Amino acid sequence: MPSKVYRDLLEVLKGRGGPYAGHDIPEFFTLVETVFQPQEAEINNVLTRKPASVDEITAKTNRKKQEVMAILEGMAGKGLCGITKSGGKVLYRGLPFMPGIFEFLFIGSGESERERTIAHLIQAYKKAHDATLGVEKIGFPLTRVITVSQKIKFGNKIHTYDQVMTYIDKYDAIGIGACYCRQAAKLRNEDLHGMPVGVCMWFGELAENITERLGGRRVNKEEAREIITSCEGAGLIHMSRNTSEEIDFMCNCDRWHCEVVGNVLKQPKPGLVFNSGFVPGFDRDLCTACGLCVERCPPEALTMEAANQFAVNLDRCFGCGVCATGCPEGAIAMETKGDFPPPPKTTRDLVQAMKNTTSGLKVEKNQ
Ligand code: SF4
Ligand code: SF4
Repeated sequence: MPSKVYRDLLEVLKGRGGPYAGHDIPEFFTLVETVFQPQEAEINNVLTRKPASVDEITAKTNRKKQEVMAILEGMAGKGLCGITKSGGKVLYRGLPFMPGIFEFLFIGSGESERERTIAHLIQAYKKAHDATLGVEKIGFPLTRVITVSQKIKFGNKIHTYDQVMTYIDKYDAIGIGACYCRQAAKLRNEDLHGMPVGVCMWFGELAENITERLGGRRVNKEEAREIITSCEGAGLIHMSRNTSEEIDFMCNCDRWHCEVVGNVLKQPKPGLVFNSGFVPGFDRDLCTACGLCVERCPPEALTMEAANQFAVNLDRCFGCGVCATGCPEGAIAMETKGDFPPPPKTTRDLVQAMKNTTSGLKVEKNQ
């Protein structure tokens, strides 16, 4: 029987929402009892999504400020709480499992027994979660595909959100950490299909956080650009939050391990809930009908109907451009979709849009 602090933690993680929020099954408790020490669970349970000072957090406990500070700093160093700096002060906030704790736990690429155990426990929790609640149905998308940085033929007026390189130009602090999905797969000895692991990118304050506290590594702009290019070569999909405001992270996802892509591919029309606003266009004169684009397409949206004649299933196409970056002849260019709605401006707008769409990530019984 889980102790009260972990039962309280269940309610707190339910309230924080996101995919794989708290769920009352044995696998949840096995996971959180490994991830959180009891005193960390206690402090986690008084954290809110809004950042708070140590004084404010201490006021909600029966502990001394120094004690609370030490626990919070320990949690921040493991990725169990978020931090932000304001007026020279560090503020702490509670995190959901995803996006949040799961990703932060693996950023440092550690391969300890504890990390291996957690990688297995997270997988066991997710499986049991899906078995009892079913696949999560995406209402309004939390994430958005960023099309490849090169190969854009039309649409030069695209929002800067679609131009990955502008973020690299803009931010001084750029951090690289392990992709949680592939790092956890690696710790479970799963096949990585040749995909790189240390390629998740963070900008600004988040970059400082992951490099100073979570074992990520700081990179300069040149290295960041090289990483983006190598991700495109490998056939990874760029992805970030579905807003048009500044993004502070960029994931590079694959079809075999990525939690988001995996869930998207279980939806009836994946391309409608995960998209960049671009579609591939083909130059038939350049195409040699090698078929590489069809092979690389993550959602299997592309078919070659005859030599160099293609059909793109728009219900499945993400507009990721993985086909374009892999074409040896340069025969594919990404073109803007005329009818694509702009994303919500801010994170607050995004949350509201998700709420308006029948609670955003609605859970449905097994499909
Ligand atoms: S990868 Fe390029 S050359 Fe090969 S079939 Fe696709 S469009 Fe044609
Ligand atoms: S056809 Fe496939 S690879 Fe090309 S943009 Fe669409 S989803 Fe991406």
